[in-house]
Amino acid sequence: MGPHHLVYGPARRAAMCYTRAMTRLHGASGWREATRRLLDTVFPPRCVGCRSRGTWLCAPCLRAVDQLPLPLCPVCRQPVEKGNPHACRGSGARPSLVAISAAGAYAGPLRAAIHALKYEGRHGVAATLAPLLAERVAPLAGDDDLLIPIPLHPARQRERGYNQSAVVAAELARLLPLELAPAALQRTRQTADQTRLSGAQRAENVRDAFVARPDGVRDRRIWLLDDVYTTGATLHAGAAALRAAGAREVRGVVVAMTLRA
Ligand SMILES: [Zn+2]
Ligand SMILES: [Zn+2]
Repeated sequence: MGPHHLVYGPARRAAMCYTRAMTRLHGASGWREATRRLLDTVFPPRCVGCRSRGTWLCAPCLRAVDQLPLPLCPVCRQPVEKGNPHACRGSGARPSLVAISAAGAYAGPLRAAIHALKYEGRHGVAATLAPLLAERVAPLAGDDDLLIPIPLHPARQRERGYNQSAVVAAELARLLPLELAPAALQRTRQTADQTRLSGAQRAENVRDAFVARPDGVRDRRIWLLDDVYTTGATLHAGAAALRAAGAREVRGVVVAMTLRA
């Protein structure tokens, strides 16, 4: 850890605290955006992987991403051939998700990128991650497809000031002909932080936590975006709500996926 950490880290955190306090006072997203842009000017990008200057994720760190090129089966995490539902669908599991497209494995630079986006408010990272996702999604996406970020509960969103999945989805929608529909899925129940829960506990934690608007999703194919796929509990619960509202098919798109649940 270099000396810049001593100044840079706490100063940035203090600036984020100030932004959050001001956002609570003013509540205006314009103020928030302006402050965020100012933060990125005062604290210019540094690679989240190796701290080199001038970029959020440098070329060597991008090359170090453990890529998962094919869409993966949400049950067994093995590759799913393009267009073919995986054999696991017939195994009795019957997941609401057809497949998961991920930029890479949840490790190294991608793990650091997600942390910077989620907990340090570094939105610039999303623009660097979006092309990695677009590369995976483009060959499979149709013109009529919807892109929906996993929503936060309104109380959680007020507390954090932004939804990291919505930030990534907005960047992805700039690169692909997907219709961004963030309001089509809502989180109706506050759920506990998942990080210390087991797979079964996570599934219980998010059960019936989402509701989808039928008028927005009926007969559409949906790309449901989350930051990380660990047990898949959140994406499965969101997908189940979308299918219940009449969605034709739901595919997951995540920045990173753990190779084991
Ligand atoms: Zn780097
Ligand atoms: Zn499978």
